[in-house]
Amino acid sequence: MRVRLYPIAAILLAGAAAFAQPASRFLQVGPAADIPVTEISGARPGPTLVLVAGTHGYEYTPILALERLRSKIQYQALSGKLILVHVANMPSFLRRTIYYGPEDGKNLNRVFPGKPDGTLSERIAYVLTQEVIERADYLIDLHCGDGNESLRPYAYWMRTGNQALDERSRQMAVAFGMNHIVIDDERPSDPAQSMYCSNTAATRGKPAITVESGGLGATDEESIARLETGLRRVMSHLKMTSGESWPENKPVWIVRNAVLRSEATGLFYAEVKKDQQVRQGDRIGTVTDFFGKTIFELRAPFAGVILYVIGTPPINKGEPLAMIGVAGPMPGPRR
Ligand SMILES: [Zn+2]
Repeated sequence: MRVRLYPIAAILLAGAAAFAQPASRFLQVGPAADIPVTEISGARPGPTLVLVAGTHGYEYTPILALERLRSKIQYQALSGKLILVHVANMPSFLRRTIYYGPEDGKNLNRVFPGKPDGTLSERIAYVLTQEVIERADYLIDLHCGDGNESLRPYAYWMRTGNQALDERSRQMAVAFGMNHIVIDDERPSDPAQSMYCSNTAATRGKPAITVESGGLGATDEESIARLETGLRRVMSHLKMTSGESWPENKPVWIVRNAVLRSEATGLFYAEVKKDQQVRQGDRIGTVTDFFGKTIFELRAPFAGVILYVIGTPPINKGEPLAMIGVAGPMPGPRR
């Protein structure tokens, strides 16, 4: 009898093994640009949640949060599928560049949905769109302040004008647990010109959020843990996991924001800190030339909270120096 049962047992074991091993592979882009991805298929059916780290390669806390998640997720306890993009922008990661890819000088998070025959950043975006984002039911694009940005944690809730979709994205943003959520109505609505990773999902009808925790090239425990906890909270919200209960999140809604840019190239001296409240007209910092002369002074255009401020000296004309946000009651739906 044992011999006769063996093939059945073997088939069952083989079936379990197909779930048990997270499937890791590289999406093919080209030399030093292939994208490491892990897929974890749960034991029960459910949605496909895509998590993207390393869109900006100098943003380390998301990359480390996904490495942790990869080692901890048990397929037996999972409903649906997780797709982890460990390092979306490998050229930027390996060459340690902020904002821009080292080969083409383009910001990966401005060239979605990408082009199959474009520059390297455009080809990375194309592969991510075709092979990952198209397969998503939900997507979270994980960021922190870049290597030069001192940032307080927050999430973006991007509103498309599709109220049912926007509501599902709002619930995801709240579920993630960040205590500040920036309402962003400014993203393009054309799926062919989606520009941003999360907006590529949203313009294809998939609820999506962007989250930010950490910055300045740091790998601090608090920022990594905040991301990992947020991902667990969202998986619980989407009923991909069960048995965990989380405290309710009552976030501060940032209803108005501005990215404040430098009008000069030189050295930046910040005079505020992340999360600081400023009044209209307060000086946020100055830019000097290379001989110490002040050539630009940045002042707050309105009162608000500093969401991030540049924390290192180099600045190019046109680049962000700080982001300021105003808390307020939720505005009416975007139409
Ligand atoms: Zn980023």
